[in-house]
Amino acid sequence: MSGCRSFYFLSGIFLGIICLFLTAGCGGSSDALLADIIFVNGHIVTMDENNPEVEAMAVRAGKIIAVGTTEEMERSFFYPELVDLKGKTLMPGIIESHGHLLTLGESFLKLNVMGVETPDEVVEKVKEQLQNIPTGQWLIGWGWDDGAWADNYPTNEKLNAVSPDNPTLLNGLHGFALWANDKALEIAGITKDTPNPPNGIIFKDVQTGRPTGILKDQAQQLLTKYIPPLSRQQLEEALRLAIDECVRYGCTSVHEAKTSGEMVEVFKNLKKKDELKSRIYVMLDGADAELIDPYLRKGPVIDPDHMLTIRCIKIFVDGALGSRGAAMLKPYSDAPEETGEIVTTEDELYSLTKRALQKGLQMAIHAIGDRGNRITLNAFRRALKEVPKAKDHRLRLEHAQVVALEDISQFAPLGVVLSMQPPHATSDMGWAETRVGPERIKGAYAWRSFADSGVHLTLNSDFPGETLNPFYGMYAALTRQSPEGEPAGGWYPEQCLTREEVLRGYTVEAAYSGFEEGIKGQIKPGMLADLIVLSDDILMISPREFLSLEVEQTYLGGKLVYEKEK
Ligand SMILES: [Zn+2]
Repeated sequence: MSGCRSFYFLSGIFLGIICLFLTAGCGGSSDALLADIIFVNGHIVTMDENNPEVEAMAVRAGKIIAVGTTEEMERSFFYPELVDLKGKTLMPGIIESHGHLLTLGESFLKLNVMGVETPDEVVEKVKEQLQNIPTGQWLIGWGWDDGAWADNYPTNEKLNAVSPDNPTLLNGLHGFALWANDKALEIAGITKDTPNPPNGIIFKDVQTGRPTGILKDQAQQLLTKYIPPLSRQQLEEALRLAIDECVRYGCTSVHEAKTSGEMVEVFKNLKKKDELKSRIYVMLDGADAELIDPYLRKGPVIDPDHMLTIRCIKIFVDGALGSRGAAMLKPYSDAPEETGEIVTTEDELYSLTKRALQKGLQMAIHAIGDRGNRITLNAFRRALKEVPKAKDHRLRLEHAQVVALEDISQFAPLGVVLSMQPPHATSDMGWAETRVGPERIKGAYAWRSFADSGVHLTLNSDFPGETLNPFYGMYAALTRQSPEGEPAGGWYPEQCLTREEVLRGYTVEAAYSGFEEGIKGQIKPGMLADLIVLSDDILMISPREFLSLEVEQTYLGGKLVYEKEK
């Protein structure tokens, strides 16, 4: 590092004095400017088409103020801090445009059975966990595969045997079914006489009529409402743990895809304490009328610090494909009597979207099946027609997992942003075609078809149902293969994306999906200094090598918020 070689020639005495007292030294010519930190000798992937790769950059007050060569930065700036990247790759921080921080955070507080292969092994885990829990207290677990086990859901006899006195509830990985013991069902008053609620199923033994412990879709709420709520302290702890996990994977922004009022308060509090390590883009839980009403009257709350922005409402139109809750135009190929469930009707969606558009709020709609997606398309079209002033609305379609082929080209002309999850395709590819058949599968996880239609396409993980590791998602998008490399050549490989599309999906396009492309997703002057240093060159490694790519450092607004242990 150069010393203060030009110090005595400074025309600005003030800068010189600052420089003199800085321990890390400084460079700069007589008319040099002050930076807080400069990054030099790097391979900086900017995601800026006009200047795609640079060597160095300068940061001040949380923003990038210059990019160029190492020599240029050292000559042009006084800097108290210098990061020598030693040839490492640095890129804009990942913008995780659809995730569930609370579910992830709670999973750290709950018994985690993700990846456990059989119901018997789950029961074993419950038995072990009970040794640490007083009799009578709730045991909450999470992560059994309600998608993969949907054809043969477990029953609760063995769960009852190991846990007779502690109400025990195990949430499914994808949130569409839960598995509970009799003690929990008893507390909720669920018996053989309890009827199915609308859009929900209480699984019962065919012979005895006794509930088997599986509650699907809306039936889950019959039980979950009895779980003692997290205290504010536990909620804060859960969100803090989840955000820590995000920055470990380089996510400097997270779009929280179902935010309650209490979560908003916790985010505000963390921001106030300067403990928010990732920027939060809130999608308010649209099922909570009391929560969204004030925003529908007053409009979005856009944070001048860009730490906590509230301008989006999330609504579910249907369920998931694995549990056959996704609403289909025609019956499921493997269940001819089922077509899925509509949670929000087209008219409801239309009128809420209209109100949101009038106030400059964004809507983000969970739609999985071709009927769910058709309803969303129709509702968007009707609402946009009635609010023509809402030109830059960026209405979002979350998932768009199975879309009728004739509908795929309909979203781009409306200006709808597609938010898709590459890991869903590779997780579901073992059974998705069984659900929808050989024709409808052509419009499933159809990233290439959507990209070619000209839509804005943001990519994300929908964690914690899938790992939040963005490089895993990138691998899935590039290959449509499992981590083991199956199937050879990829599953419907014509739908793979290019490396450039993939990188843009997690940066530039993700920023666009939150109206933030002017401040995030690229490395150029004026952008927030949200940056990640990688273990390898993301432009040169093979798709398989994305699986072992790691984040070594994460910077938020130029401040180090994560560093991998050496
Ligand atoms: Zn989600």
